[in-house]
Amino acid sequence: MKIANKTVTATRLVKDALEKAKHFADYNIFTFLNEEGALKKAAEIDAKIARGEKVGRLAGVPYALKDNFLSPEGDTTASAHILEGCASPVTATAVEKLEAEGAIMIGRANLDAFAHGSSTENSYFGPTLNSHDKTRVAGGSSGGSAVAVALDIVEFATGTDTGGSIRQPASFNGVYGFKPTYGTISRYGVVAMASSLDCIGFFTKTPEDMDLLMSIAAGQDPKDMTTLPDYYNTNSKASPVHKIGIIKDFDNDVVDANIRNALKDKCELLKSKGYEIVELEMPTLKYALAAYYIIQPAEVASNLSRYDGVRYGFRSNDSSNLDGLYENTRNEGFMPENKRRIMIGNFVLSSGFYDAYFLKAAKARTLIIDEYNKAFSKCDFILTPVSPNPAFKLGEKVNDPVAMYLEDLMSVSLNLAGVPGLAIPAGETAEGLPIGLQLVGPRRSDKRLIEFAKEII
Ligand code: GLN
Repeated sequence: MKIANKTVTATRLVKDALEKAKHFADYNIFTFLNEEGALKKAAEIDAKIARGEKVGRLAGVPYALKDNFLSPEGDTTASAHILEGCASPVTATAVEKLEAEGAIMIGRANLDAFAHGSSTENSYFGPTLNSHDKTRVAGGSSGGSAVAVALDIVEFATGTDTGGSIRQPASFNGVYGFKPTYGTISRYGVVAMASSLDCIGFFTKTPEDMDLLMSIAAGQDPKDMTTLPDYYNTNSKASPVHKIGIIKDFDNDVVDANIRNALKDKCELLKSKGYEIVELEMPTLKYALAAYYIIQPAEVASNLSRYDGVRYGFRSNDSSNLDGLYENTRNEGFMPENKRRIMIGNFVLSSGFYDAYFLKAAKARTLIIDEYNKAFSKCDFILTPVSPNPAFKLGEKVNDPVAMYLEDLMSVSLNLAGVPGLAIPAGETAEGLPIGLQLVGPRRSDKRLIEFAKEII
């Protein structure tokens, strides 16, 4: 708006964003800074405005691109050594849509390699630091994106969420993070993690910005057969919200007292605004984490099998024969967490264990879907913590995979059920660490969910 009205130029905005990115270099937010490309695009937008031509809804708005989205600007590494030096053969549909509206990518944001993790410590390029406390993790896997928005370097950032990778870092850094209904935004041109769970979404500072980005990015894409027809822009006016569900099963000692209190405060606020709070029992959710850590690695094992040193990026020098080339490339190119998931995934899919693990997890997933459907017959939306704890210390959990997986307790069930979740900032702990809560809605309630967030700020 300011750009179209000529109160500020796109070049000024992009220069400021790049300067801030450099100023905060010690946070390790970016894997690549797009200085030349971003300034060129900004100059083009300024020239268009000078000529009186129409510009897009995001004209000149600087953004950070999670480094698992393919685009011609910079290599797409997914923060993994095995993808270093891999130029993108295509552009992600989401990137095309944002840039068609004039958004300008100023840098690629750090993540846990292949989006495997909850802290960004699994990145080949080292961890991103928390925006509020440099001794703590940024959350993950989209840590770089969350911190880029939280430190006000960019107006928004893209993310992917397979089990919480947008919502959890958003909550660790005090910004909004949205995982839409499965299939709302095209995943074409985004490095696949676990295809039945992966969703594209955004980090913003306001629900209004989230709404704008969703209205631009949502919609069917012939290049991604899992995309839904655009319901986001076509659903008739959102009906009023009356009842908010609270999951009783989450009110226990596993959840940090600061977070439990934030939830209670929010409920009081909602009651004072006339909403009814409904207590829900959702006992099946306790199986969500186990089901997720079977289904997700199974899909990871299949998606990562394409990285063999022949077709993409890095190739080991230590490769006198073909098997050696595969083995050495994977051994040197993947991070330990990637290897762990490939092994678990192949194990749960192997003929002797498929029935005991994968099939059971798939059945549990169906029960979780049913449980959400039942819950939404009793309330409009559900309000829960995003994660059991605020941002933890760097190094605290990285060598204990199970402790790290437990951080995903409250986020993964949404991906299993395909329902949308919006992480909203909900105050801070006594130490000044951000607390996040998530609003969960039925499938395709995304627009109504974001509208509701605007109402309850
Ligand atoms: N933390 C979860 C995991 O490690 C989720 C990751 C994600 O959403 N990409 O699997």
